[in-house]
Amino acid sequence: MKSSSKPKTPKQKQALVLYSGGLDSRLVIKILQEQNFQITALHFNLPFGCSGCNLLEGLNAEEVKLKIFDVKSEPLLSEYLNIIKNPKHGTGTGINPCKDCKIFMFKKAKEYADKNKIKIIATGEVIGQRPMSQIPSAMRTIDKQLGFEILRPLCAKAIKETSYESSKLIDRNSLLSISGRGRKEQMALAEKYKIKYSTPGGGCFLCEKYPSIRLKHLLEKNLITESTLPLTIIGRHFYINNTWLVVARDEKESDIISSFKTYLPDDEGKPAIYFSNSSQKSEALKLQDAYSTGDNFEKRNKFNKYKL
Ligand code: SF4
Repeated sequence: MKSSSKPKTPKQKQALVLYSGGLDSRLVIKILQEQNFQITALHFNLPFGCSGCNLLEGLNAEEVKLKIFDVKSEPLLSEYLNIIKNPKHGTGTGINPCKDCKIFMFKKAKEYADKNKIKIIATGEVIGQRPMSQIPSAMRTIDKQLGFEILRPLCAKAIKETSYESSKLIDRNSLLSISGRGRKEQMALAEKYKIKYSTPGGGCFLCEKYPSIRLKHLLEKNLITESTLPLTIIGRHFYINNTWLVVARDEKESDIISSFKTYLPDDEGKPAIYFSNSSQKSEALKLQDAYSTGDNFEKRNKFNKYKL
């Protein structure tokens, strides 16, 4: 007797792609989709990382599930700030703890993948593309710390085979062997896959010389919290009498500052000023006077030694 039940359709394989919104991670999504993987794109909204990419641009929400981990909010923010304060694997040109930053993201990705029974965790990393975290030795350090494997489809054939490939969960021949800092191959693939993407809005503040000096100081003084985080990347910064002061440079920055309890509003040529210690309003008033419109160089110069 013939069975009346329908043949079962094979369950689609799943992959978790660490998704920055940039071209490389978009390419990885396409490559894995071609291999019949169902994709969850995991984005980390980092406190000092690049912003400005339109995450949804060109992503078909029916085909790709977008999951966002907000590191600008607790509890992830404190965990991340601790990593910046105490990096185990050193820093780059600023206070950027790239290896530790990646280990943090990969471990969070693994927890999510395990919870959702997703077998593959993939990234858009390319060997040799970035000096701090994508040279072979750095990748080995990261992988050793993780204790689980990361699939790097754009450069997989240029590095050691993973168990994902050897177990045939994914066909190694479908993966690429891109290496180095050039972008030619990625651009050609973008054409092939008709990928639309915007250029990221900016880099990571932790890598930049002056912002990283300021951020280091603010971290040491434990002044960065979920609420003060937006202040860290705007305005002119001073540290006077154990007080952090931020001087707005435009209307947008004034608006941010005016959402705090201790601040001086902008007023007829005077900039808005945030001050972290309510007993130091008089310092804030002096600073506001120095930074009001007009020829105040002498007054401003007096504050130079307090600049962050
Ligand atoms: S540049 Fe380094 S520290 Fe900054 S977001 Fe990227 S990996 Fe993290």
